[in-house]
Amino acid sequence: MWPLLGGHKSLDGQPGGHYAENVMRSQALPDEEKPKVAAESKRAVTVARDKPSTTIEDYLEVVYNMLGEGRTVIAARLTEKMGVAAPTVWATLQRMQRDGLLKLGARKEITLSESGLEAAESVIRRHRLAECLLVDILGLEWHEAHEEAHRIEHAISPRVEAHILAVLGHPTTCPHGNPIPGYAQEPPPPTVALNSLSEGDEVTVESISEDAEEDQDLLRYLQKNGLVPGTRLKVVEVAPFNATMTVEVDGNRVTLGDPVSAVIGVRPLDQSPRSVRGPRPS
Ligand SMILES: [Zn+2]
Ligand SMILES: [Zn+2]
Repeated sequence: MWPLLGGHKSLDGQPGGHYAENVMRSQALPDEEKPKVAAESKRAVTVARDKPSTTIEDYLEVVYNMLGEGRTVIAARLTEKMGVAAPTVWATLQRMQRDGLLKLGARKEITLSESGLEAAESVIRRHRLAECLLVDILGLEWHEAHEEAHRIEHAISPRVEAHILAVLGHPTTCPHGNPIPGYAQEPPPPTVALNSLSEGDEVTVESISEDAEEDQDLLRYLQKNGLVPGTRLKVVEVAPFNATMTVEVDGNRVTLGDPVSAVIGVRPLDQSPRSVRGPRPS
């Protein structure tokens, strides 16, 4: 058994949990194999109730990331983000509340329950590990990894997750520097946004926000200018009237607008660095 899974049981409580997709397999098999698979499928159907659907996992990810950024989550924000009609979002949220995944506060603000957090961490973990796999093993570009990982994260079983983790050498962050839930040795101290710094501050780039990972043009721009996890930079000018700041990276000066510097998480040089990872050197 995979010792790596200690403390990270699957949602059905079994390492190597089963998924509803297994049910489809029995149709393609010769008759003599059917009884065995049928029994297995029955079990899969039973435990699959515990595994949220792809849609629910998408909602859990969005809520988790918004809460992680210190934002208040309300249905209207999810409507914008998910690109679906408000009644659809409400119906999904009510289903999630009924299933005990989230709580709605007095002002309809959304928080995750304990089981909701566990389920959200599970899909976020698969998402960030998939990004590592795509970049480190399959050679995809840094800016492409997020979108591709979003497609495959739902299909990764706990068994495959354990193998990916071992093959990758136990990464603790995704290629954009965001921590992989459950696998960081200790919770890292929170980063601060680059746009909160003053002239003369020197910092290390720690992460690019999960939200910003969706913007491939932005990621390309950041990579071109060396603004990736692990890079040291110095703030040389802050121009509040213009909502820009100029930073020095490897002797080059780059001027960034506020919306860009807001998505770059940094840490002062004197704080103990954790193992940050950026894209492969090109
Ligand atoms: Zn991502
Ligand atoms: Zn990432």
